[in-house]
Amino acid sequence: MKSIHAGLSWPRIDDAPIEVACPFCDTLQSAPRLVEGDAAHCCRCGEMLYQNRPRSLARATGFSAAALVFMALAHLFPSITVDAGSVRRELTILEAAAAMLREGHPLVAMAAVAFTLIAPLSLVGGLLYVAAPLRFGVALPGARGVTRLFQLSEPWNMLEVFLLSILVAMLKLGVVGDIQLGVGIWALAGLVFCTAAAMAGIDRLELWDRLEIALQAKR
Ligand SMILES: [Zn+2]
Repeated sequence: MKSIHAGLSWPRIDDAPIEVACPFCDTLQSAPRLVEGDAAHCCRCGEMLYQNRPRSLARATGFSAAALVFMALAHLFPSITVDAGSVRRELTILEAAAAMLREGHPLVAMAAVAFTLIAPLSLVGGLLYVAAPLRFGVALPGARGVTRLFQLSEPWNMLEVFLLSILVAMLKLGVVGDIQLGVGIWALAGLVFCTAAAMAGIDRLELWDRLEIALQAKR
């Protein structure tokens, strides 16, 4: 019976049993359909197989939108203020990256751009592009490719590591000059939190399932 509204409920529209391999012990088993808020566990080791998280799309949409706002703030406002004698300079992340490039640290400059701009934009932007219209059972053009892309970029989202290394560098430099952290750094912290919350809110299997349902409805 296909009584489910396309994209609004989950799991699968067809009644075929879902074959899932346990990510921990590799046991292949057929798993049940879940109601919202429920989770399926491995019959052998008890590891969680998948989960039907409550309001997952709404949460993913909300947190990824907030993450993008934090990302914009992080780049609009200065992140560090350097007091070197009579000169006082406020630098945004990209200005600091440009300065690093001039000083002969291209790797640090590239890491700054990759971790604060490219990785979050592809991860959170991709999630928002897919999750927001899926709430209404709609898949935008290229949604499948975008989902693959942001799942690929997930391991590269190491902004928290970058943030920590900035703080350590600040502590070291703090001994020499007078360096202060600006609004941009706190916005980056907000970006880290919202990215984690957006990714934690959604189950991969659920996302793909809802995507397939929306794509089927399109045909
Ligand atoms: Zn298992």
